[in-house]
Amino acid sequence: MAVLRFYNTLTRKLEKFVPLNPEKVTLYTCGPTVYDYAHIGNLRAYTFADTLKRTLRYVGYPVYHVMNTTDVGQLESDADLGEDKIMIGVRRAAERGEQVTAWDIARLYTEKFIADRTAMNILPPDKLTPATEHVPQMIELIKTLEAKGFAYKTSQAVYFDVSKFPTYTELSRQKLEQLREGVREEVVVDSEKRNPADFRLWQLDQPNHAMLWDSPWGKGFPGWHLECSAMAMTYLGETIDIHTGGVDHIPVHHTNEIAQSEAATGKKFVSYWLHNEFIRVDNVKMSKSKNNFYSLNDVVQRGYSPMDLRYLYLEAQYRFPQNFTWQALTGASSARKNLLEQFAIVQYFVAEKEPMDVAEHPLRKKFASFLADDLNIPGALSIVWEVVKEASLTGIEKYSLLLDFDKVLGLKLAEVPTFGSFFSLEEQQGIRQLLIDRENAKKNKDWAVADELRDRLTQQSVRIVDTPEGPVPLVEEKTMV
Ligand SMILES: [Zn+2]
Repeated sequence: MAVLRFYNTLTRKLEKFVPLNPEKVTLYTCGPTVYDYAHIGNLRAYTFADTLKRTLRYVGYPVYHVMNTTDVGQLESDADLGEDKIMIGVRRAAERGEQVTAWDIARLYTEKFIADRTAMNILPPDKLTPATEHVPQMIELIKTLEAKGFAYKTSQAVYFDVSKFPTYTELSRQKLEQLREGVREEVVVDSEKRNPADFRLWQLDQPNHAMLWDSPWGKGFPGWHLECSAMAMTYLGETIDIHTGGVDHIPVHHTNEIAQSEAATGKKFVSYWLHNEFIRVDNVKMSKSKNNFYSLNDVVQRGYSPMDLRYLYLEAQYRFPQNFTWQALTGASSARKNLLEQFAIVQYFVAEKEPMDVAEHPLRKKFASFLADDLNIPGALSIVWEVVKEASLTGIEKYSLLLDFDKVLGLKLAEVPTFGSFFSLEEQQGIRQLLIDRENAKKNKDWAVADELRDRLTQQSVRIVDTPEGPVPLVEEKTMV
């Protein structure tokens, strides 16, 4: 098995990846809060988790991947303040004149998320788990924390007492005093709170919330951080190999996940914490005031394919901030289309459609070495282009390597249709004959005839690409999936 190295946020080091059980690597990804469309920052996080999972599988690890949907409990601010985002979704719908329930909102945006994911060829997790279906597990977890002295109740909520958990700031490396500064205002919100950084496990003070459950502490709903701990441990066990999410989750959400989980079990919660950096838009942070929280709909409405956005993400290593501009997306789009075209050309010359075994190919090793280096996808992508351009490779080598690489990149090369799939055998023969006639006309410098033959092919939606191996007929639109 190839050695993979990942940058672990917990240790701030590049570490060799050693799973607890190489027969089943456990992976948890914080999923969407399903009250609105996912934006391009969210989509980067899911694409990153996707390439990570594909890489683990590529080098031979069976992976079990769990992702949650937050359909209750995430408040507007990480500091336990404001309205539940699901209720914001209900309110916004009402403002548009739609009478919908919180459950409708969650269902609708879960469907939208799945549609976005499919459109971007992000593999589905083995388990997509809505928080609302795991409330009994969450209540059990709070009971455990309470029994062990980590939780206490006020009139407003059940809190986790961070002063009882000495390694609370290990992941964020902040000072607890800094956290106290940051959430000072909140002390006013609940005067019974013991420490400003204490966070809510169970909400009691929103009696008009549409989703309430009975609990030993009173009617309420779970806190967002608790949800991920409960679901991760339910499906992946008390210690999981890899947990992913955006860097914005480090100081609060993931810090709190660790505290609750480890306080409850006494065991390490996660071996490797992998965090992707932000997307910036036109070099500024995405913000409400800038109105630049683009969704996949915005991308599609401007005439791009969701796969163009995928390609754009592949162009940056996940730990670096990526700058989104429409111009950059145009660049990604033309690079992707060019790649599909190059693949169609390679495919045209390959008689045998069964790929050869490339396991020991030096270019595959080069490709894999980039992946092993903290998921250097842009490096891996450069090997794709090396394969396309390398004149010494045979057609079947190129074809097989590109299909092999695409298991990680997910650019749907295997779906690029073959020339034969568009035309009957008779039509194919006719087109090939026209190509031969055109070549002959060119040889005889009979340019008028050559042009006329080309036009006849154009009428059949066939564009000729002249290559060193000879002319290749491409069916323009349909080649570009
Ligand atoms: Zn989470």
